[in-house]
Amino acid sequence: MYAVELDGVSQVYVNRKGAYVALQDVQLAIAPGEFVSLIGPSGCGKTTVLSLISGLLTPTSGTVRVFGEPIQKPTPKVGYMLQQDYLFPWRTIFENASIGLELLGRLNAASRQYVLDLLEEMGLGGYADRYPHQLSGGMRQRVALVRTLAAEPDILLLDEPFSALDYQTKLQLEDLISATLKARGKTAVLVTHDITEAIAMSDRIVVLQPNPGRVLTEAIVPEAIREAQPLHAREIGGFHELFRELWGRFEQMDGKGGGGHGPAET
Ligand code: ADP
Ligand code: MG
Repeated sequence: MYAVELDGVSQVYVNRKGAYVALQDVQLAIAPGEFVSLIGPSGCGKTTVLSLISGLLTPTSGTVRVFGEPIQKPTPKVGYMLQQDYLFPWRTIFENASIGLELLGRLNAASRQYVLDLLEEMGLGGYADRYPHQLSGGMRQRVALVRTLAAEPDILLLDEPFSALDYQTKLQLEDLISATLKARGKTAVLVTHDITEAIAMSDRIVVLQPNPGRVLTEAIVPEAIREAQPLHAREIGGFHELFRELWGRFEQMDGKGGGGHGPAET
């Protein structure tokens, strides 16, 4: 059984200006424990795919299944981590990290301890009683990761979680997230427009093309790169070949006037 399955999924957005086909007939199956990256020019429907998997959006046509069940509404099985950390400034780090559990009515002695343990694991042990403004951008994203993991989702959706961070912090966080998710056997879908990040972190890369959003191609990341930590993956043979192949795909899309922006955007 697949962890995530999009079966003939189309998404049409309707607003005052008319109807826009954001996704057309998307087919995607992700195995349990697999780490898949979605890349493609902005506007090609990456965030829409995540919103559909999270159950925040119902597809115009087709079916989205999570562990075989059609998804109707958000479920704690699927955790969603966004580009911005959306921490509440008036809540402490612990209160921010545990808010999901609180809303689910699952905050008790055991789950409190679990949140504290996760904070410790993410190097935030001493910060539980601090406030978001006292933390760096990388630390705040780690709090957001703890908040997402606290409800023990089987699937994590990550929408450009590193894009607001400086390069050094981004590489460290890539390693931390990769190790954390791998150790727990989580299934992950990462949206990024950084090709190197996609190669360094994933088992498989799905390239979307815009207007309308569709799967253009897929690439399996070679075993040796997958086994390496993201930071070191960039030095392994095959990394640059795969980068050039994917870069070429982006250039083709630009050439066809796909309306998007190439990877040079970041
Ligand atoms: P990406 O994350 O790849 O940049 P999105 O999934 O956010 O792309 O959006 C895909 C397309 O759908 C874009 O052209 C965007 O403008 C459009 N779109 C997204 N959300 C809405 C909405 N709520 N209403 C109308 N159009 C939307
Ligand atoms: Mg997006």
